[in-house]
Amino acid sequence: MARYTGAVCRLCRREGQKLFLKGDRCYTKKCAVDRRTYAPGQHGQGRKKVSEYGKQLRTKQIARRFYGVLEGQFHHYFEMAEKMQGVTGENLLALLESRLDNVIYRLGFASSRAEARQLVLHGHFRVNGRKVNIPSYLTKAGQVITVKESSRQNEKIKAIIDANSSRPVPKWLDLNRDKLEATVVSMPNREEIDLPIEETLIVELYSK
Ligand code: SF4
Repeated sequence: MARYTGAVCRLCRREGQKLFLKGDRCYTKKCAVDRRTYAPGQHGQGRKKVSEYGKQLRTKQIARRFYGVLEGQFHHYFEMAEKMQGVTGENLLALLESRLDNVIYRLGFASSRAEARQLVLHGHFRVNGRKVNIPSYLTKAGQVITVKESSRQNEKIKAIIDANSSRPVPKWLDLNRDKLEATVVSMPNREEIDLPIEETLIVELYSK
């Protein structure tokens, strides 16, 4: 499965905002966005006038990088969002948000989406009692996500879950911490997705 393997803090610096790609480090003073507030590279500190197209492109890149999705797959989500009822931009974010790796991260079962992807790939979770090891699996309302029985005793998994237990869980997920089990209550609506972008710019970009 293809994925970005370069330096992730560079991506945040390029977008000029925290994308929370490194787990705990993102909340410390070591965060590269806090330490160097300019874009990476030779011309990173130069003044730039951003065109309308530039704004649309950067918005799309922020969303793509936030969820760790490559271009082809992101465009596929856009096509799915267009065919759904409702507002395309909001549908797009709801689809990205309902990916299993994101759900695992939102539940606090992983410190970052990258870590969630890894844990899903290693088969640590069940959806409605069945093994699902596909990070891009799209969860649906009513489905129950659980940590695999044998993984509950895994010291690494226990430490990760403990470390993230204070992170707030969005309302569209109903988590039972004692049982390490969560139900997808509904598809997330826009107000429940903390991605500070104007998703209409992505729609404009792909509609050209
Ligand atoms: Fe981004 Fe986290 Fe790196 Fe900060 S520490 S630049 S938020 S990945």
